[in-house]
Amino acid sequence: MPEFPQPWNRSASQRRRLGRYGSMSRPIQKVAFIGLGKMGGPMASRLAARGYRVQGSDVSPEALDQLRKAGGAPADSPASAVADADAVILMLPTSDIVESVILSDDLLDALPVGALIIDMGSSEPLRTLALAERLASHQHPLIDAPVSGGVRGAEQGTLTIMVGGAEEAMERAQPLLEILGKPTHVGPTGAGHALKALNNLLSAAHLWITSEAMLVGERFGIDPKVMLDAINGSSGRSGSTENKWPNFILPETYNSGFALGLMVKDMSIAVALANSLGLPSPLGQESLRLWKQAQSELPPNADHTEIVKWLRIHHR
Ligand code: NAD
Repeated sequence: MPEFPQPWNRSASQRRRLGRYGSMSRPIQKVAFIGLGKMGGPMASRLAARGYRVQGSDVSPEALDQLRKAGGAPADSPASAVADADAVILMLPTSDIVESVILSDDLLDALPVGALIIDMGSSEPLRTLALAERLASHQHPLIDAPVSGGVRGAEQGTLTIMVGGAEEAMERAQPLLEILGKPTHVGPTGAGHALKALNNLLSAAHLWITSEAMLVGERFGIDPKVMLDAINGSSGRSGSTENKWPNFILPETYNSGFALGLMVKDMSIAVALANSLGLPSPLGQESLRLWKQAQSELPPNADHTEIVKWLRIHHR
């Protein structure tokens, strides 16, 4: 990981920005958006459509093209995206990538002091806490604001947004977050990322057990649609019976837009969090083991709903 620059090492241009943007309460107008994938792409497009000046960065040229079409400005690096930004949104796959992007010397040198960093990806809560402390000492406040609601929620601006961090920082981000969905302050720094991982551990376990039950019912001769209707009026319902099975599994499209690898990452974060807090999580651990086994036998870019394909083969 690159060395974190010390204040006395700031360049002349950084010191000029310090003077210009010293205020932490500057309203957000210019947004650097880093990570324009399945979620970040539509989120950045919504912000551009609502009048924010969005400078986007992604390693994928196709993602940058999409942003251009949506009215945003593609930047040739994360560092040039953040120059002059009031806020930096990160929608990246992992904490490793978040840290490598945000702690690069080039980016830190270009980042205006007081720019609010908003990590909207599903990162690791304890690493988020450490990162926020490191950035705060250089007047770069960070909040975590991970989301649920999937690609459809990103397109329609209906995401559930779980915000961790200082309340005044969240208030500053609120108008922008409300364009993307419904933000709720859930606790101190890292609480959003903790809650998001725990939600996905539940969601993954629900999908697995729902799929086991659906395959048993099917083998017995019950029509899967009849089963879903009945379960959705009963206590076994969940996002898996209300959304994933009817919309992505029964039609055999398997195109929820949420990769299996990202689900396993989130489950690993939740189980590791339980361990680090000294709490047992036997069912979580067993769910993670099963999901990892399916992951090892499915294609690397499989959608998470494709675990049903794996179950169909292994439960024959
Ligand atoms: P994705 O893989 O579609 O998008 C990630 C983007 O980051 C890609 O476009 C990739 O090119 C880009 N990227 C990777 N490394 C980069 C770097 N060093 N610099 C710049 N860009 C880089 O993933 P996604 O599904 O959009 O998920 C993003 C985050 O949101 C993840 O943390 C995921 O767990 C979380 N999430 C996803 C969903 C979903 O339904 N897809 C829902 C909720 C949360």
